[in-house]
Amino acid sequence: MKNIIEQTDQSIFKTYSRYPVVLTKGEGVKVWDEKGKQYLDFLSGIAVCNLGHSHPGIVKAAQSQLEKLIHVSNFFYTEPQVELSVLLTRHSFADRIFFCNSGAEANEAALKLARKYANEHYNAKRFEIITMKYSFHGRTFATLAATGQEKFRKGFEPLPHGFNHVPFNDIDALEKAITESTCAVMLEPIQGEGGVNIPSDSYLQQVRQLCDREELLLIFDEIQVGMGRTGKIFAYEHYGVEPDILTLAKALSGGLPAGAMLARSKVAQSFTPGSHASTFGGNPVVMAAGAAVMKELVEGDVLENCRKMGEYFFERLLNLKDKYPDIIREVRGKGLMIGMELKIDGNDIVQRCLDDGIIINCTLDRILRFLPPLIVKKDEIDRCVDVLDEVLSGVQS
Ligand code: PLP
Repeated sequence: MKNIIEQTDQSIFKTYSRYPVVLTKGEGVKVWDEKGKQYLDFLSGIAVCNLGHSHPGIVKAAQSQLEKLIHVSNFFYTEPQVELSVLLTRHSFADRIFFCNSGAEANEAALKLARKYANEHYNAKRFEIITMKYSFHGRTFATLAATGQEKFRKGFEPLPHGFNHVPFNDIDALEKAITESTCAVMLEPIQGEGGVNIPSDSYLQQVRQLCDREELLLIFDEIQVGMGRTGKIFAYEHYGVEPDILTLAKALSGGLPAGAMLARSKVAQSFTPGSHASTFGGNPVVMAAGAAVMKELVEGDVLENCRKMGEYFFERLLNLKDKYPDIIREVRGKGLMIGMELKIDGNDIVQRCLDDGIIINCTLDRILRFLPPLIVKKDEIDRCVDVLDEVLSGVQS
């Protein structure tokens, strides 16, 4: 198996720093490496495998679609696209969906739609989009420009202009940044890569009011927080606000590459044949898997488990904070999206957890991020916290 690591390092772009572990199998919360070592995946492939690895419903739906029809062009209609779009519209604010293949693509579509809408309804001078500092929206040129973290943008300038970043959770800063050129505000209801940042209870409502007053479109990027991660299908449901455009990807099809932009008809009308497209967008196999995910979220007890286990996990992590006040600054989160901000660098802690069979990660070098599958059980959470406790006790001494 050393061969796989060596060959990867020789033949694949070095865009990722990888652990020297070759994963070969997954089931539920567990994954195994080629030596048979078992890990608990408290990262879910970065918020992708929300129903766990190789969920039987997803496998069955994808397998049966694979046997029927793998791909056709979007010149034709297919049933799985409708099945997923009906489920998404029925359970969201939206009545139109555009399907694509990833988060960056979904956001790219949202940015284009916002500009086209403003161009049609106001004038071509309204093109600027305000996003948040510490946001993450993707790696394409426009989504990099939207991303409020310098480190991702460095070396790729000049980026498309027309993006302005303001501090998250600061309504005054947002209000001040709005000009005649502004056409939309885009944000993650809970910031993921930026460190699991939770807005105050009223912030998103204030943003909505501001957008209504100034006639700006409000775009929510729920690529990381959507699809049940916070205990509701969409994170915006916690805050009593609805966006005009919403983007999804990651967990949408349970591990198959999928992205979606959701909007109301009034806004969606600005896209007409030829405005936007994707060869693979709405692929039947990926859509069938997505429909299986949505059905499970709607009909199963996944969301309830997420809420219950989220509370339990949060409590246990808070206890660690009491035990290690010199190491842990704060625990924050919603549902099963939890961040633990440290007073020290967290990368070594992630490595030691991995050695002990627990997969987590660390954003901004200081914030441990826990994103287990939403089907996680109490004993699995206990195992994760016990390992972390052990690792932290080693740091302490
Ligand atoms: N938006 C958010 C909030 C994300 O967390 C991510 C990925 O981490 C993206 C967009 C980009 O998604 P993708 O990697 O599928 O392009």
